[in-house]
Amino acid sequence: MVGGGLAGCEAAWALAERGDGVTVTLHEMRPVRMTAAHQTDRLAELVCSNSFKSEEPTNAHCLLKAEMRRLGSGVLEAADEARVPGGAALAVDRAAFARAMHARVAAHPLIKLARGEVTALPSPAVIATGPLTSEALSGAIAARLGVAALAFFDAIAPIVSLIRSTRTSCSGRRATARAAATTTSTPPSRRRSTTRSWQA
Ligand SMILES: Cc1cc2nc3c(=O)[nH]c(=O)nc-3n(C[C@H](O)[C@H](O)[C@H](O)COP(=O)(O)OP(=O)(O)OC[C@H]3O[C@@H](n4cnc5c(N)ncnc54)[C@H](O)[C@@H]3O)c2cc1C
Repeated sequence: MVGGGLAGCEAAWALAERGDGVTVTLHEMRPVRMTAAHQTDRLAELVCSNSFKSEEPTNAHCLLKAEMRRLGSGVLEAADEARVPGGAALAVDRAAFARAMHARVAAHPLIKLARGEVTALPSPAVIATGPLTSEALSGAIAARLGVAALAFFDAIAPIVSLIRSTRTSCSGRRATARAAATTTSTPPSRRRSTTRSWQA
């Protein structure tokens, strides 16, 4: 796991908690190398809003958190510990949240924390270095993808992008058009299963 931010800590936690004995090495470059926004060496340091958004069940943000809770989210356990009044939102004290998440991850017997910048793409690996990915690693990712620049999709965007990119990567443009044509000409029961397999 590369990157000990929100995503990297949650993913490391989820892998380590699966119960099949997998050991996870979590690489975090701070404090050896800092980013332009982080100020501490803590894992899961929040550099952004202290709100994890709505807790109202009619809202997509709440449903996402409800699913995460059912999956044993470490981030949400830490958020509950660090909770501050936030109206209808789950808001946290930044320092208390990072402390709680750091303590959980650092104490997990199956997670090994390695401090230092990763500059090449390890394999197998999950890259979770966020919008402030170091320059060397950004270069390695861009080279692997064959692109000149990378874009960061903020908080809400991946929900839309995942469905789109899955469609594209599974089938490509021509086949997507073919699948769309198939969908409109198949009976409703088969249409539903086509949609399900795209979303999976
Ligand atoms: C100034 C600022 C304000 C923001 N405000 C908001 C906001 O209000 N709302 C919102 O939803 N989002 C906001 N964002 C985006 C925000 O960063 C993400 O929502 C969230 O932090 C992403 O979590 P993450 O785990 O992907 O990345 P991060 O939490 O940034 O974690 C990535 C980790 O990877 C580490 N890392 C980077 N490169 C390497 C490397 N080569 N080797 C090892 N470790 C590395 C970093 O040190 C960091 O700890 C903001 C971002 C910035 C920079």
